[in-house]
Amino acid sequence: MRVRIDLHVHSTVSDGTESPAAVVRRARAEGLDVMALTDHDSAAGWSEGAAAAAAVGLGFVPGMEISTRHGGRGVHLLGYLFDPSYPLLADELAAVLRGREGRLAAMLERLVAAGAPVTEEQVRAHAGPYGVLGRPHIADALVAEGLATDRADAFVRWLNPGRPGYETRYAPSTSDLIRLVNAAGGAAVIAHPWSRGSRRVLDAETLARLADDGLAGLEVDHQSHSDDQRAELRAIGRDLGLVITGSSDHHGQGKVDHDLGVNVTAPDQFERLLAIAADHAAESGRVVPRPTPPRAAGTLG
Ligand code: AMP
Ligand code: ZN
Ligand code: FE
Ligand code: FE
Repeated sequence: MRVRIDLHVHSTVSDGTESPAAVVRRARAEGLDVMALTDHDSAAGWSEGAAAAAAVGLGFVPGMEISTRHGGRGVHLLGYLFDPSYPLLADELAAVLRGREGRLAAMLERLVAAGAPVTEEQVRAHAGPYGVLGRPHIADALVAEGLATDRADAFVRWLNPGRPGYETRYAPSTSDLIRLVNAAGGAAVIAHPWSRGSRRVLDAETLARLADDGLAGLEVDHQSHSDDQRAELRAIGRDLGLVITGSSDHHGQGKVDHDLGVNVTAPDQFERLLAIAADHAAESGRVVPRPTPPRAAGTLG
Protein backbone atom coordinates (compact mmCIF):
# COMPACT_ATOMS: atom_id res chain seq x y z
CA MET A 1 0.00 0.00 0.00
CA ARG A 2 1.25 3.46 -0.89
CA VAL A 3 1.18 5.90 2.01
CA ARG A 4 -0.16 9.31 1.03
CA ILE A 5 1.20 12.29 2.95
CA ASP A 6 0.06 15.91 2.38
CA LEU A 7 2.07 18.44 4.40
CA HIS A 8 0.37 21.79 3.61
CA VAL A 9 -3.35 22.32 4.25
CA HIS A 10 -5.39 25.38 5.34
CA SER A 11 -8.61 25.66 7.35
CA THR A 12 -10.97 28.43 8.49
CA VAL A 13 -8.36 29.28 11.14
CA SER A 14 -6.79 31.27 8.29
CA ASP A 15 -7.98 31.40 4.68
CA GLY A 16 -9.22 27.87 4.00
CA THR A 17 -12.96 27.29 3.79
CA GLU A 18 -13.40 24.19 6.02
CA SER A 19 -12.95 23.92 9.78
CA PRO A 20 -9.88 22.00 11.02
CA ALA A 21 -12.07 19.00 11.95
CA ALA A 22 -13.92 19.05 8.62
CA VAL A 23 -10.78 19.18 6.50
CA VAL A 24 -9.18 16.38 8.57
CA ARG A 25 -12.24 14.15 8.12
CA ARG A 26 -12.33 14.80 4.39
CA ALA A 27 -8.59 14.10 4.10
CA ARG A 28 -9.23 10.67 5.63
CA ALA A 29 -12.31 10.06 3.48
CA GLU A 30 -10.28 10.91 0.36
CA GLY A 31 -7.61 8.37 1.24
CA LEU A 32 -4.82 10.41 2.80
CA ASP A 33 -2.78 8.74 5.55
CA VAL A 34 -1.05 11.80 6.98
CA MET A 35 -1.98 15.48 6.82
CA ALA A 36 -0.28 18.57 8.22
CA LEU A 37 -2.54 21.48 9.17
CA THR A 38 -0.60 24.62 8.22
CA ASP A 39 -2.71 27.70 8.69
CA HIS A 40 -1.12 31.10 8.15
CA ASP A 41 0.65 32.43 11.25
CA SER A 42 -1.57 30.57 13.74
CA ALA A 43 -1.61 27.36 15.78
CA ALA A 44 -5.26 27.87 16.77
CA GLY A 45 -6.44 24.81 14.82
CA TRP A 46 -3.95 22.28 16.16
CA SER A 47 -5.96 20.81 19.01
CA GLU A 48 -9.20 20.54 17.01
CA GLY A 49 -7.31 19.03 14.08
CA ALA A 50 -5.41 16.54 16.24
CA ALA A 51 -8.57 15.36 18.01
CA ALA A 52 -10.46 14.91 14.74
CA ALA A 53 -7.47 13.08 13.23
CA ALA A 54 -7.21 10.69 16.17
CA ALA A 55 -10.94 9.94 15.86
CA VAL A 56 -10.71 8.95 12.18
CA GLY A 57 -7.21 7.41 12.28
CA LEU A 58 -5.52 10.05 10.12
CA GLY A 59 -1.88 10.80 10.86
CA PHE A 60 -1.69 14.44 11.91
CA VAL A 61 1.21 16.88 11.94
CA PRO A 62 0.72 20.30 13.56
CA GLY A 63 2.26 22.97 11.36
CA MET A 64 2.08 26.62 10.39
CA GLU A 65 2.74 28.63 7.22
CA ILE A 66 4.64 31.62 8.55
CA SER A 67 4.90 34.93 6.65
CA THR A 68 8.56 35.93 6.33
CA ARG A 69 10.59 38.20 4.05
CA HIS A 70 13.87 37.69 2.23
CA GLY A 71 15.48 40.06 -0.24
CA GLY A 72 12.40 42.29 -0.19
CA ARG A 73 10.03 39.47 -1.17
CA GLY A 74 7.51 37.51 0.82
CA VAL A 75 8.63 33.96 1.60
CA HIS A 76 6.23 31.47 3.17
CA LEU A 77 7.97 29.24 5.70
CA LEU A 78 6.32 25.99 6.81
CA GLY A 79 7.16 25.23 10.43
CA TYR A 80 6.33 21.77 11.79
CA LEU A 81 6.10 20.28 15.26
CA PHE A 82 7.46 23.27 17.20
CA ASP A 83 6.38 24.88 20.45
CA PRO A 84 4.38 27.99 19.40
CA SER A 85 4.69 29.44 22.89
CA TYR A 86 8.52 29.70 22.64
CA PRO A 87 8.76 33.39 23.63
CA LEU A 88 10.92 34.85 20.82
CA LEU A 89 8.86 33.04 18.22
CA ALA A 90 5.54 33.90 19.86
CA ASP A 91 6.57 37.59 19.79
CA GLU A 92 7.22 37.45 16.05
CA LEU A 93 3.94 35.64 15.35
CA ALA A 94 2.06 38.26 17.38
CA ALA A 95 3.77 41.00 15.35
CA VAL A 96 2.75 39.30 12.10
CA LEU A 97 -0.88 39.09 13.26
CA ARG A 98 -0.83 42.77 14.30
CA GLY A 99 0.54 43.57 10.83
CA ARG A 100 -2.40 41.75 9.25
CA GLU A 101 -4.84 43.87 11.28
CA GLY A 102 -3.03 47.13 10.53
CA ARG A 103 -2.93 46.41 6.83
CA LEU A 104 -6.66 45.77 6.63
CA ALA A 105 -7.61 49.40 7.32
CA ALA A 106 -5.04 50.64 4.80
CA MET A 107 -6.25 48.26 2.09
CA LEU A 108 -9.88 49.18 2.66
CA GLU A 109 -9.02 52.88 2.29
CA ARG A 110 -7.24 52.16 -0.97
CA LEU A 111 -10.19 50.14 -2.25
CA VAL A 112 -12.64 52.93 -1.43
CA ALA A 113 -10.42 55.40 -3.30
CA ALA A 114 -10.33 53.00 -6.27
CA GLY A 115 -14.13 52.72 -6.37
CA ALA A 116 -14.43 49.31 -4.71
CA PRO A 117 -15.85 50.04 -1.27
CA VAL A 118 -16.10 47.13 1.14
CA THR A 119 -16.35 47.54 4.89
CA GLU A 120 -14.32 45.97 7.67
CA GLU A 121 -17.50 44.31 8.89
CA GLN A 122 -18.06 42.69 5.50
CA VAL A 123 -14.48 41.39 5.46
CA ARG A 124 -14.66 40.02 9.00
CA ALA A 125 -17.87 38.18 8.11
CA HIS A 126 -15.78 36.07 5.72
CA ALA A 127 -12.93 35.39 8.14
CA GLY A 128 -13.07 32.43 10.50
CA PRO A 129 -13.65 32.72 14.23
CA TYR A 130 -9.90 32.93 14.92
CA GLY A 131 -9.28 36.29 13.27
CA VAL A 132 -6.29 35.56 11.03
CA LEU A 133 -7.28 38.12 8.42
CA GLY A 134 -5.88 37.85 4.92
CA ARG A 135 -6.43 39.18 1.44
CA PRO A 136 -8.60 36.13 0.62
CA HIS A 137 -11.21 37.44 3.08
CA ILE A 138 -11.14 40.86 1.43
CA ALA A 139 -11.50 38.97 -1.87
CA ASP A 140 -14.60 37.18 -0.55
CA ALA A 141 -16.15 40.53 0.41
CA LEU A 142 -15.36 41.95 -3.05
CA VAL A 143 -17.01 38.90 -4.65
CA ALA A 144 -20.09 39.27 -2.42
CA GLU A 145 -20.37 42.92 -3.52
CA GLY A 146 -20.16 41.95 -7.19
CA LEU A 147 -16.74 43.61 -7.59
CA ALA A 148 -15.01 40.35 -8.62
CA THR A 149 -16.17 36.95 -9.86
CA ASP A 150 -14.09 34.80 -7.48
CA ARG A 151 -11.01 34.97 -5.23
CA ALA A 152 -8.59 34.61 -8.13
CA ASP A 153 -10.32 37.42 -10.05
CA ALA A 154 -10.31 39.64 -6.95
CA PHE A 155 -6.53 39.18 -6.61
CA VAL A 156 -5.94 40.03 -10.27
CA ARG A 157 -8.22 43.08 -10.22
CA TRP A 158 -7.58 44.50 -6.75
CA LEU A 159 -5.31 42.66 -4.35
CA ASN A 160 -2.06 41.55 -6.00
CA PRO A 161 1.07 43.71 -5.61
CA GLY A 162 0.74 46.65 -8.00
CA ARG A 163 -3.07 46.54 -7.96
CA PRO A 164 -5.13 49.38 -6.39
CA GLY A 165 -5.95 47.65 -3.10
CA TYR A 166 -2.52 46.24 -2.26
CA GLU A 167 -0.62 47.15 0.86
CA THR A 168 2.46 45.48 2.41
CA ARG A 169 2.57 44.19 5.97
CA TYR A 170 5.17 43.22 8.54
CA ALA A 171 7.08 39.98 8.07
CA PRO A 172 10.24 38.87 9.94
CA SER A 173 13.35 37.70 8.08
CA THR A 174 13.31 34.16 6.72
CA SER A 175 16.70 33.36 8.29
CA ASP A 176 15.56 34.55 11.71
CA LEU A 177 12.37 32.52 11.52
CA ILE A 178 14.21 29.34 10.49
CA ARG A 179 16.39 29.71 13.59
CA LEU A 180 13.39 30.44 15.80
CA VAL A 181 11.40 27.42 14.55
CA ASN A 182 14.45 25.22 15.23
CA ALA A 183 15.00 26.76 18.67
CA ALA A 184 11.31 26.11 19.38
CA GLY A 185 11.92 22.41 18.71
CA GLY A 186 10.56 22.10 15.16
CA ALA A 187 11.65 21.85 11.54
CA ALA A 188 11.33 24.47 8.76
CA VAL A 189 10.53 23.96 5.06
CA ILE A 190 10.24 26.72 2.45
CA ALA A 191 6.73 26.63 0.94
CA HIS A 192 6.43 26.87 -2.88
CA PRO A 193 9.93 28.43 -3.19
CA TRP A 194 9.51 29.48 -6.82
CA SER A 195 5.90 30.63 -6.88
CA ARG A 196 5.00 34.08 -8.16
CA GLY A 197 8.42 35.03 -9.49
CA SER A 198 10.35 34.39 -6.28
CA ARG A 199 12.84 32.27 -8.22
CA ARG A 200 15.09 35.30 -8.71
CA VAL A 201 15.28 35.80 -4.94
CA LEU A 202 15.51 32.15 -3.86
CA ASP A 203 18.26 31.05 -6.23
CA ALA A 204 20.59 28.13 -5.50
CA GLU A 205 23.12 30.27 -3.57
CA THR A 206 20.43 31.82 -1.40
CA LEU A 207 18.92 28.42 -0.67
CA ALA A 208 22.40 27.20 0.31
CA ARG A 209 22.70 30.05 2.82
CA LEU A 210 19.26 29.27 4.23
CA ALA A 211 20.31 25.62 4.54
CA ASP A 212 23.30 26.86 6.58
CA ASP A 213 20.82 28.77 8.77
CA GLY A 214 19.16 25.44 9.56
CA LEU A 215 16.50 25.03 6.88
CA ALA A 216 15.26 21.42 6.82
CA GLY A 217 13.50 21.18 3.47
CA LEU A 218 11.99 22.51 0.26
CA GLU A 219 8.39 22.09 -0.90
CA VAL A 220 9.24 21.04 -4.44
CA ASP A 221 5.99 19.40 -5.57
CA HIS A 222 3.50 22.28 -5.48
CA GLN A 223 0.92 23.41 -8.02
CA SER A 224 2.68 26.73 -8.61
CA HIS A 225 5.79 24.95 -9.96
CA SER A 226 6.10 23.64 -13.53
CA ASP A 227 7.59 20.19 -14.17
CA ASP A 228 10.89 21.81 -15.20
CA GLN A 229 10.97 23.93 -12.04
CA ARG A 230 10.27 20.86 -9.92
CA ALA A 231 13.16 18.97 -11.54
CA GLU A 232 15.56 21.89 -11.06
CA LEU A 233 14.48 22.58 -7.49
CA ARG A 234 14.67 18.88 -6.61
CA ALA A 235 18.27 18.77 -7.85
CA ILE A 236 19.18 21.85 -5.78
CA GLY A 237 17.52 20.37 -2.71
CA ARG A 238 19.33 17.05 -3.14
CA ASP A 239 22.70 18.82 -3.52
CA LEU A 240 22.05 20.69 -0.28
CA GLY A 241 20.89 17.57 1.55
CA LEU A 242 17.44 19.08 2.13
CA VAL A 243 14.23 17.13 2.65
CA ILE A 244 11.99 17.25 -0.45
CA THR A 245 8.29 17.63 0.25
CA GLY A 246 5.14 17.74 -1.85
CA SER A 247 1.71 19.00 -0.85
CA SER A 248 -1.60 20.40 -2.00
CA ASP A 249 -1.71 23.81 -0.28
CA HIS A 250 -5.43 23.05 -0.07
CA HIS A 251 -7.73 26.00 0.72
CA GLY A 252 -11.12 24.26 0.39
CA GLN A 253 -13.24 26.17 -2.12
CA GLY A 254 -10.84 29.12 -1.90
CA LYS A 255 -8.34 27.97 -4.53
CA VAL A 256 -8.89 25.79 -7.59
CA ASP A 257 -6.44 23.00 -8.61
CA HIS A 258 -5.31 22.52 -5.00
CA ASP A 259 -7.33 19.41 -4.09
CA LEU A 260 -6.15 17.43 -1.07
CA GLY A 261 -3.37 15.02 -2.04
CA VAL A 262 -2.82 16.55 -5.49
CA ASN A 263 0.89 16.43 -4.56
CA VAL A 264 2.29 14.22 -1.80
CA THR A 265 5.49 13.75 0.19
CA ALA A 266 7.46 10.49 -0.09
CA PRO A 267 7.44 8.46 3.16
CA ASP A 268 11.25 8.43 3.41
CA GLN A 269 11.35 12.23 3.16
CA PHE A 270 8.63 12.51 5.78
CA GLU A 271 10.62 10.26 8.12
CA ARG A 272 13.68 12.50 7.65
CA LEU A 273 11.60 15.57 8.48
CA LEU A 274 10.29 13.90 11.66
CA ALA A 275 13.84 12.92 12.65
CA ILE A 276 15.12 16.50 12.18
CA ALA A 277 12.24 17.88 14.25
CA ALA A 278 12.91 15.28 16.95
CA ASP A 279 16.59 16.32 17.08
CA HIS A 280 15.64 19.99 17.40
CA ALA A 281 13.07 19.16 20.07
CA ALA A 282 15.72 17.29 22.09
CA GLU A 283 18.27 20.13 21.70
CA SER A 284 15.74 22.82 22.58
CA GLY A 285 14.27 21.18 25.66
CA ARG A 286 10.90 22.66 24.63
CA VAL A 287 7.65 20.75 25.05
CA VAL A 288 6.60 20.15 21.45
CA PRO A 289 3.42 18.62 20.03
CA ARG A 290 3.76 15.02 18.84
CA PRO A 291 2.56 13.84 15.44
CA THR A 292 -0.53 11.60 15.63
CA PRO A 293 0.31 8.29 13.91
CA PRO A 294 -2.06 7.04 11.21
CA ARG A 295 -4.14 4.01 12.19
CA ALA A 296 -4.02 0.76 10.19
CA ALA A 297 -1.33 2.00 7.85
CA GLY A 298 1.49 0.24 9.66
CA THR A 299 4.01 1.13 6.98
CA LEU A 300 5.52 4.28 8.41
CA GLY A 301 8.40 2.61 10.15
P1 AMP B 1 -2.16 37.50 2.67
O1 AMP B 1 -1.84 36.38 3.61
O2 AMP B 1 -3.19 38.41 3.16
O3 AMP B 1 -0.93 38.19 2.14
O4 AMP B 1 -2.83 36.78 1.41
C1 AMP B 1 -2.07 35.83 0.69
C2 AMP B 1 -2.82 34.52 0.58
O5 AMP B 1 -3.84 34.66 -0.37
C3 AMP B 1 -1.95 33.40 0.08
O6 AMP B 1 -1.35 32.71 1.11
C4 AMP B 1 -2.92 32.52 -0.64
O7 AMP B 1 -3.47 31.61 0.27
C5 AMP B 1 -4.01 33.45 -1.09
N1 AMP B 1 -3.95 33.77 -2.51
C6 AMP B 1 -2.97 34.39 -3.18
N2 AMP B 1 -3.26 34.54 -4.48
C7 AMP B 1 -4.49 33.96 -4.65
C8 AMP B 1 -5.36 33.76 -5.76
N3 AMP B 1 -5.02 34.18 -7.00
N4 AMP B 1 -6.52 33.12 -5.54
C9 AMP B 1 -6.86 32.68 -4.31
N5 AMP B 1 -6.09 32.85 -3.22
C10 AMP B 1 -4.92 33.46 -3.38
ZN1 ZN C 1 -3.51 30.84 2.20
FE1 FE D 1 1.78 30.14 0.73
FE1 FE E 1 -0.52 27.91 1.91
